[in-house]
Amino acid sequence: MSNKTPPQNTPNAGADSDRSPAIGSPASRVPARKSAGALKKLTELHQIIQQVSQADSLESALQAIVSGVRNTLHTDACAVYLSDQAHSHYVLMASEGLNAQGAGKLHLRQSTGLVGWVAERREAVNVRNAPAHPRFCRLQGTDEEAYHGFLGVPIIHRQQLLGVLVAQQLAQSRFKKSEQAFLATLATQLAGTIALSLSQSALQGSAPAQSQSPSQYEGGAGAPGIAMGTGVLVFSTVDLDQVPDRTVEDSEAEIAALQAAVDGVAADFELLAERLEPGLSAEDRALFRAYALIARSQELFDATVNRIRHGNWAPGALRESILEHVRLFEAMDDPYLRERAHDIRDIGHRLLARLLPGDATGNTDYPPHTILIGEHLSPVDLAAVPAERLAGVVSGHGSSLSHLAILARSMEVPAIMGITGDVALGELDGTSLIVDGYQGRLYLNPGESLQKDFRRVQRQEQKLSEELQSLRDLPAETLDGVRMPLYTNAGLLSDLSHSLSRGSEGIGLYRTEFPFMVRNSFPTEDEQYLLYRQVLEAFHPRPVTLRTLDIGGDKALTYFPVQEANPYLGWRGIRISLDNPDIFLTQIRAMLKANAGLGNLRLLLPMISRVEDLDEAIVLINGACHELQNQQDDIMVPPLGVMIEVPAAVYQAQELARRVEFLCVGTNDLTQYLLAVDRNNERVARWFDALHPAVIRALIQVTDAARRHGKPVCVCGEAAGDPAVALLLLGLGVESLSLSSGDLPRIKWVIRSFSRDQGQELLSLALAQEQATSIRALLLQALTTAGLGALVHPGTPR
Ligand code: PEP
Ligand code: MG
Repeated sequence: MSNKTPPQNTPNAGADSDRSPAIGSPASRVPARKSAGALKKLTELHQIIQQVSQADSLESALQAIVSGVRNTLHTDACAVYLSDQAHSHYVLMASEGLNAQGAGKLHLRQSTGLVGWVAERREAVNVRNAPAHPRFCRLQGTDEEAYHGFLGVPIIHRQQLLGVLVAQQLAQSRFKKSEQAFLATLATQLAGTIALSLSQSALQGSAPAQSQSPSQYEGGAGAPGIAMGTGVLVFSTVDLDQVPDRTVEDSEAEIAALQAAVDGVAADFELLAERLEPGLSAEDRALFRAYALIARSQELFDATVNRIRHGNWAPGALRESILEHVRLFEAMDDPYLRERAHDIRDIGHRLLARLLPGDATGNTDYPPHTILIGEHLSPVDLAAVPAERLAGVVSGHGSSLSHLAILARSMEVPAIMGITGDVALGELDGTSLIVDGYQGRLYLNPGESLQKDFRRVQRQEQKLSEELQSLRDLPAETLDGVRMPLYTNAGLLSDLSHSLSRGSEGIGLYRTEFPFMVRNSFPTEDEQYLLYRQVLEAFHPRPVTLRTLDIGGDKALTYFPVQEANPYLGWRGIRISLDNPDIFLTQIRAMLKANAGLGNLRLLLPMISRVEDLDEAIVLINGACHELQNQQDDIMVPPLGVMIEVPAAVYQAQELARRVEFLCVGTNDLTQYLLAVDRNNERVARWFDALHPAVIRALIQVTDAARRHGKPVCVCGEAAGDPAVALLLLGLGVESLSLSSGDLPRIKWVIRSFSRDQGQELLSLALAQEQATSIRALLLQALTTAGLGALVHPGTPR
């Protein structure tokens, strides 16, 4: 088959018979006034979309499309082909005018025909005389050769080609550009609906198999691991929004009922914290105490009582107070604060469930291997499942930042956050599911062979983690004897005992903002002292790097709201600390005092973008040291480090390195700022890659600068836990890594399997590449060759 494109049949521009602007051209984007014809087309487009969305099966949805297109374009034939990846062909699923016998049975091989060409190009093909085209291939069982004008557009959903929509006419003429625009718009608008219908009918076996099976949904990787089990949908049977107002006489009785509900809900939270105690760190439990505090919030209580005194019954008054708070949080720009609106609503539901008569609880029957499903799951929902029954978590909303995800990671329960696509969560209830928490992928009603594959993955993972456990007490040392200490990242919910059990050599990054985030006000110096002392003692004599407050960006405090249009480029990290020396000094004093008699503290400053900020911070730290040394003689001056996470810090790494004892590269922010990719935005996630050549060059700049001043560099972003990146960092001469405790054993395996020379060789090969994908391929190949193939695609059946 020839792949040559004959010039007379090129589908684009030039030879079209009318002069209407192409899609996307300025003229088509903002018409001064829509013509009556255009408005008519728009109405027809909406009608088709409506009919398709109301269809009760894939077949009727596709039939509605072909009829709609044929009527609207007044064309002689219309057809929809869907891609069947399993059999490498396109299936004619619905048609009008082609005289086709047996829709669903006629198919074209994948690389053949004009349909195949549309799919290959992923672009519209508009030709005047199809049978004369070298790519033409008649679909057996139709009278297709009678049609000359051919217009085909791809149906693409989330970058996956679902099929091709085709309009054909007897006349030898190209379709008009306006018709091409109409068909392309329709295909785009219907792709989601078709994907949904496909996923539903795939479950009944009536749809062709897609490369990425439609019985598979994508989300964010919330907590790593594979879980197989049964979906249990958690929902509230009480609906806050539906609670009516009602006048009451006895307001005192309503207030007493409200008080009882508040006490009951707060007690529930405390009970849950206790129940989870063996699996949770003290800080995890603080989260439940925070919920109890919200439930007991005086402000919420007073506002509700006030409404009761004005004559409303307790449920109605509560609805108003809760919704008032919810609206306040929902309107906030900051994703962390918006996330808190769900917490408040959830607590409202729980209070309401206690106030309303009758059984108002949701689903509480948890089978073994429960996969907890919910639109807005809260940590409380997760905690309510007996630990031995909880296998996995799927939340309709949220991100890896959500408390739910943090808790799931802490409990080592695989989780998917913010599931995308048109999945109706209700349909997952009672369904057999596989949660791939590594890739953030959910499989519905997996067939026997997929289950077998994932069982094999689980066994491999289990075996691997047992084998890696044997490395626990061995040093992280390269084949040529270079030590590369592996530290762990910790914060509010990271379990210090997990870090210790995985053989962590210290805490390379303790995010102090996390304990601040679950409180209702700034922790006092004494509270902070107790917390830091606990961490320093737990790891003593191993080093503990406490980073000063890094709020702002996506981390905010409810009691210190900052409204900004561009929070990542705004008041963040050291900038807030320097503008609020009281907050900064309280924290520094608590850290210095906690270090008294121990001496394993290292201080780290976030978001340094200019030397003035560092100099100012050093003056404040030295001042606090001297002041405390006058009161206490066991106060030591700790080593000081700066985070290199802003491009400016990369280019001033020398000046910074001269002033401090160590540098710590935060690849999360550095990648975000260098590549202009929001680290939390799933839509641009594929642009976020720490192996981008620009990031690698930045890292070289930093390590060179640090070396010139004899200062060590630690890398503490998420990328340090990626085996491919760790291998490259070895070659870069980075002195240590700090990562999540779960990643530590794998990275130790990498370090112990290569020499630094090999790492350096790989680095020079990587530097010759222009794209992150080829750099990754190179490193993955090196891992596989060294026998570490098991680290290459965790979670993917091999
Ligand atoms: C980083 O930016 O890489 C980092 C470790 O800091 P955080 O993720 O807390 O911003
Ligand atoms: Mg950072």
